[in-house]
Amino acid sequence: MKKLSLFLFAFFFVFSLFSQEFEDYFVNKTLRINYLHIGNYNTNHIQLDNFYYGGTWNGTIHSLIEPNRYGDMLFEVFDAENKELIFSRSYSCLYNEYSTTERAETETGSFEECILMPYPKKKVEFTFTSYDRKKVGTLIGSGTFDPEVDKPIPFTKEYKTINLHLSKNSPQHALDILFVPDGYTKKEKKKLRQDMKRFSGYILECSPFKEVKDNISIRAIEGFSEESGITDPLKNIYKKTLINSSYNVIDVDRYLMCLNVWKMHEIADDAPYDLIVIVANSPKYGGGGIYNFYCTVNNEGRVSDYVIVHELGHLLGGLADEYYTSEVSVRDYYPVGIEPIEPNLTTLTDFESKWADMLDPSTPIPTPDNEKYQNVLGVFEGGGYVAEGVYRPWRDCTMKEAKYNNFCPVCTKAILKAIDYYTK
Ligand SMILES: [Zn+2]
Repeated sequence: MKKLSLFLFAFFFVFSLFSQEFEDYFVNKTLRINYLHIGNYNTNHIQLDNFYYGGTWNGTIHSLIEPNRYGDMLFEVFDAENKELIFSRSYSCLYNEYSTTERAETETGSFEECILMPYPKKKVEFTFTSYDRKKVGTLIGSGTFDPEVDKPIPFTKEYKTINLHLSKNSPQHALDILFVPDGYTKKEKKKLRQDMKRFSGYILECSPFKEVKDNISIRAIEGFSEESGITDPLKNIYKKTLINSSYNVIDVDRYLMCLNVWKMHEIADDAPYDLIVIVANSPKYGGGGIYNFYCTVNNEGRVSDYVIVHELGHLLGGLADEYYTSEVSVRDYYPVGIEPIEPNLTTLTDFESKWADMLDPSTPIPTPDNEKYQNVLGVFEGGGYVAEGVYRPWRDCTMKEAKYNNFCPVCTKAILKAIDYYTK
């Protein structure tokens, strides 16, 4: 393992690459790399599985170097000849959450992951760097891809796509959200279609998505499962479903995630997408969302409108949970003296890099958590699963309370910035 400090390098390259032409290095197709993320509390590494290609490149063609570094993983691609950084993607993953649990002290975990990049014209080298909560980067995997030598597996189209809301912009200039249903049988086709339409509405009617909906496309895959419902291990319920979603992932009952990420991407490849949202056919409250990875929501329940936009906040905006009382067991998640990477939390270590410029000068820091400061931008103590020493911008933002259409100004700004990234 090699400890790296890549932050300075990243800043150096941002300027030279912003103007770089997509066509110099890439063709308009997608390359997907499947790999396993394996490890425990002390160590982790990437084990490459296979390359896949097809479709078109649906991500942005302007910001090939990721401007927002909210993830704890960084994927970087270099031209093999001149060593220039030509593509990067910041993301987080379920593995890194697993590695902070007690289970990881005694058990080695193995998680499927995928990364997408535009298809390179020439040989490239790529690296995976994992950042810990103190922002120290460790190189955990690397590889090469040569279009002349490597034989990627072509995407195969299997599923019908339902268009729910289409932007006039092409996928390269729009935020493309794709719903992948799980736990719906063929007999539930009507329910599947109604649910997809309803969840599309939840996104499009919520600010700030509502205001920029012309730049958003929402589609769904019409994919059916062998059995109806979702796996719930604590109740001894196991279902054969399309992508094997399950409750109680990393031992948190309501944490609903997908255990077959490779299959999920294989199915998603049938439509253009930037972000995958799994809609799970289950009445039990649950969900999850990880930055630039994917998010999930259960289809029934009175707060499913809130759950989908909250999880999208994680997936799209890199936003943290602003609540601090929960069953989530994470240790050392926000170390003292380290500014969190997420835009909507601060430890006041480097508040200037957060929402200090948006704050009214008369607002006290910390801000008293009482009625006087309801709907006032402040610095309220408690957030990110921690009651003390971590601060949030709003008393009851959608990232804290089960309140639909209530993103605070800081989260709103982060979401709009992310949509802008996909739209340019
Ligand atoms: Zn917020």
